Amino acid sequence: MNIAATDDAWMARAIALAIREKGDDPANTPIAALVVRQGRLVGAGVNRTAEHCDATAHAEVEALRAAGHEVGDMKIDGATLYTTLQPCGMCTMAAIWAGITRIVYGAGRDQVHKMYFEDRHLSTVDYIRDAFKDDLTLEGGVAAHACARLYYGPHDKVPDEQQANT
Ligand SMILES: [Zn+2]
Repeated sequence: MNIAATDDAWMARAIALAIREKGDDPANTPIAALVVRQGRLVGAGVNRTAEHCDATAHAEVEALRAAGHEVGDMKIDGATLYTTLQPCGMCTMAAIWAGITRIVYGAGRDQVHKMYFEDRHLSTVDYIRDAFKDDLTLEGGVAAHACARLYYGPHDKVPDEQQANT
């Protein structure tokens, strides 16, 4: 499989995981992430912030934790992080600390409500550009429409209590 087909296949698995674990209602924040190294799934996670009362339990962090346990190292060097939604600053930094070399996301920041991000202006791209690492790549828009459908849109009216970033 070429890399685009591989990305599509992993993203389809991430979407399926999100829906299986959290359903497809945006109110339940169905975000999923996978950590894949050398063609093998080494970690997976979904957003568990509400269930765990843990602001850091984003899908990407959950997946990185699972991957760390699986490989027995905090570094998962050379792995790819797939996530259904563009990662926030915290998750981007976590990926950098974990030695991820490629981040692939589905829905982009402009396709979803601002409630999913903590910064007004800084974006995943800015964190990566400013990192000490120079071997990290970022690609967005894989199955973007299918991913974006799981989340509130930019103009949706979202109840205040569901907006974690305010
Ligand atoms: Zn995050």
